[in-house]
Amino acid sequence: MKKKLAIVGYGGQGAWHANWALKSDVISLAGIFDISEKRVKAAQDLGIHTYASREELLADESVDIVLCATPNDVHKEIVISALRAGKNVICEKPVALSVSDFDDMCAAAKEAGKLFTVHQNRRWDVDYLAIRGLIRSGEIGETVNIESRIHGSRGIPSDWRCHKPYGGGMILDWGVHLIDQVMQLIPEKVTSIYCETNNITTDEVDDGFNLRMTFESGKRATVEVGTYNFLALPRFYFQAKQGTAVIEDWQKKCKVAKLKAWNEKEVLPVQTAAGITKTMAPRDELTLDMYEIDRPSSDVHDFYRNVVLAVDGKEEQLIKLPEVRRVLCVMEAAFRSAEQGTAVKVNI
Ligand code: NAD
Repeated sequence: MKKKLAIVGYGGQGAWHANWALKSDVISLAGIFDISEKRVKAAQDLGIHTYASREELLADESVDIVLCATPNDVHKEIVISALRAGKNVICEKPVALSVSDFDDMCAAAKEAGKLFTVHQNRRWDVDYLAIRGLIRSGEIGETVNIESRIHGSRGIPSDWRCHKPYGGGMILDWGVHLIDQVMQLIPEKVTSIYCETNNITTDEVDDGFNLRMTFESGKRATVEVGTYNFLALPRFYFQAKQGTAVIEDWQKKCKVAKLKAWNEKEVLPVQTAAGITKTMAPRDELTLDMYEIDRPSSDVHDFYRNVVLAVDGKEEQLIKLPEVRRVLCVMEAAFRSAEQGTAVKVNI
């Protein structure tokens, strides 16, 4: 039987979830609650049941799962109240504004004996899955460095995301996805973090950042979000011991240059403006295999399929709380590093 989902916060993302629930093979939509009359009316116009209050929603015994899709600052309170009402809970990302808030939410889940998870939906992004597939196949060897970037040019959205009290800023908004992905790609302890934030369009929150992470074995990752980049750098740049891969943007395939032979017969120098160089000359094509990888298939709604099975104890939940906690620890260290202007040693 389908599990019944009720949504708290029917804005952009709440509506995305509702729309899915209306078509889902595993979920049915019980209804929504929002504090905005306009949003309540928008739901009613689509024939969606609306609850008069959050208390009424939580008191509905037919509801199996509550989804929290409000601005970030109220996630904690809403999640804990839903768990205490005996509901399983999915929270939108970033799940909390601090590690200690998250620990309180996890304690409430444990006490209630209910499932609690986070909608880290970008684990289903095709570009991320392509890099993950390449790493897992070992095709171009061990990871040296991963660079993951998102570049836009419209500044930070002018809603609650540009205000600090609501949990605005790009580290919390996009950073949480990209850090989560990189930590899945390099499953090792993080030992050092250096973060620089941008305040190009606003002083209140970061409207972009560059975060460098070092892992236990020396592997490195850069995570960068920009909202003032009129030309974008590639979405992924991946250096490994036997090759390099690039994904130019979301829609593009992964391009791979795989090393066939390290030694070249003869390297012809290239002319640059002020001299010649052999070091930076393009490689002889006989020593490189150049190819593209097909975009992997992906269905983000496998997230819900897993949640439903996990609620019934038939599958382990895919988005695990300790993983979510490590990402929050990295974000806290990133804020610390940006404030201090130095790299911070961590053991995450
Ligand atoms: P939004 O502003 O479009 O919607 C938020 C809604 O919550 C509004 O309708 C607002 O009235 C309502 N709200 C505020 N406080 C409330 C409360 N106490 N009780 C009930 N309703 C309340 O914002 P959004 O873009 O939908 O973002 C919501 C959440 O979803 C954020 O945490 C955001 O980070 C996350 N999000 C996730 C993704 C993703 O890909 N996973 C994408 C977008 C947003």
